[in-house]
Amino acid sequence: MGDLIHVSRTPFEANASHLRRVSFCMESDMTTESPVDIDTGPFRALLEESLTERLAIIEELAPHALPSIDPMAYQTLAANRRAVDEITNALNRIDAGTYGRCARCSGWIAPARLEAVPHAATCIDCSRAAA
Ligand SMILES: [Zn+2]
Repeated sequence: MGDLIHVSRTPFEANASHLRRVSFCMESDMTTESPVDIDTGPFRALLEESLTERLAIIEELAPHALPSIDPMAYQTLAANRRAVDEITNALNRIDAGTYGRCARCSGWIAPARLEAVPHAATCIDCSRAAA
């Protein structure tokens, strides 16, 4: 008899703890979805530093970076101009308070991705979808 009660209770208890786990997961998901105060200071410093570097490269290459004269320099110049655009956009997002949000799905970009690619405008999923 005592054993029966024990046996019949166990699944209920297991369910209850499962439910607690589920609601805990939902809470942590909500934390991920709600606006997080990203410390943009270090990212701004990184972006400004690489912006300065890119602009210096552009200034150096621009005079002779013509496809007919130096195709390699021309490609490097084009890549750096794209990067300058991306970095400038990221700095604008910091100013607008939308830095760290994906431009496509408006989900949060993983902090590790921002550390690797501070000018990333999309989350890893969207960037893979676009590639
Ligand atoms: Zn996305």
